[in-house]
Amino acid sequence: MKILIKLKNKIRKIFEIHCPDCGGILKYEFYDPVHKVDVFRCQECGKEWV
Ligand SMILES: [Zn+2]
Repeated sequence: MKILIKLKNKIRKIFEIHCPDCGGILKYEFYDPVHKVDVFRCQECGKEWV
């Protein structure tokens, strides 16, 4: 149950992230196993954020 809530919060967080540059919506792109980070791409300016 706790895991489910955690996952829900993570998904919610992903949808709520906005680009610091232009304020566009950041879409989850992929998980970078090298840097161990989630990579997001801005739908407006195309910049990648971690
Ligand atoms: Zn942007």
